[in-house]
Amino acid sequence: MQFQPILEDIVETVRPLLGAQGQVARYIPALARVPAAQFGIALRTCDGQEAQAGDSATPFSIQSISKLFALTLGMQALGDMLWERIGREPSGNPFNSLVQLEAEQGTPRNPFINAGAIAVTDRLVSQGDAKAAMLALLSSLCNEPVHFDEEVAASEAATGFRNIALGNFMKSFGKIDNDVSAVLDAYFHHCAVRMSCLQLARATGYLCRDGRHPFSGEPLLTERQTRRINALMLTCGTDDAAGEFAFRIGLPCKSGVGGGIVAVVPDRLSLCVWSPALDATGNSLLGMRALELFTARTGLSVF
Ligand code: GLN
Repeated sequence: MQFQPILEDIVETVRPLLGAQGQVARYIPALARVPAAQFGIALRTCDGQEAQAGDSATPFSIQSISKLFALTLGMQALGDMLWERIGREPSGNPFNSLVQLEAEQGTPRNPFINAGAIAVTDRLVSQGDAKAAMLALLSSLCNEPVHFDEEVAASEAATGFRNIALGNFMKSFGKIDNDVSAVLDAYFHHCAVRMSCLQLARATGYLCRDGRHPFSGEPLLTERQTRRINALMLTCGTDDAAGEFAFRIGLPCKSGVGGGIVAVVPDRLSLCVWSPALDATGNSLLGMRALELFTARTGLSVF
């Protein structure tokens, strides 16, 4: 299939809608300044074909897309032990919600809500330098150096009261081993990684290759672990819009409040769309529209 004309068509279709609807994430001051009228899309197939259109080379804050890579590091380090403290059910609640944690004794519903990613990060901090591990994984996966945006990390640390509450609340149940501030420092830095659509389309390539590195082919995860990540992306990757994503798009996806969404077509390709204006669930409005156009045009779906 020739993907380049399809991506160019998608850019032309969404261009008139740029900046018309939704709002950039305001609760993180450094993200509130990002111009809304930007859109990029990129993909890489399992045989290495690449296509990209729009602002596909512009780096943006990956935010919760980092939860995917934190989970990958956690599965690599701990295997099934990781699941002793983290569930696998969709939350049906906003990504930063505290409500279910009390009834569930400090065990987060899944690794893709904030509480779950903070719990995964705690396990990574126990293993060593969680910030360095994230940059090393991402730089290897996209085959070029990846960095933190220190301004975004500092902005989140200064205003991340809910995340601080989540960390302390889980600690009160004995579910966080390390110093909460050290765990949150790593978590905020993970969210503050800057990458472009093309870099993320490359980096998520292991998820459409049964866990094999997108460039070297080395196994990063087992086939079974990779299927599980894709299952979690489908059921929990877009928070309380996961049902709508499965219904309208039908691919495992992971979104972030920087406006990026990555999606996987197992055994075929990985792709990333980005547009900063979000809907009420914290998902990119035009990103979701673009993914819907992409699956409609290509007929690709996991169903
Ligand atoms: N850094 C953001 C937060 O912790 C990530 C949320 C997201 O992208 N959904 O609130």
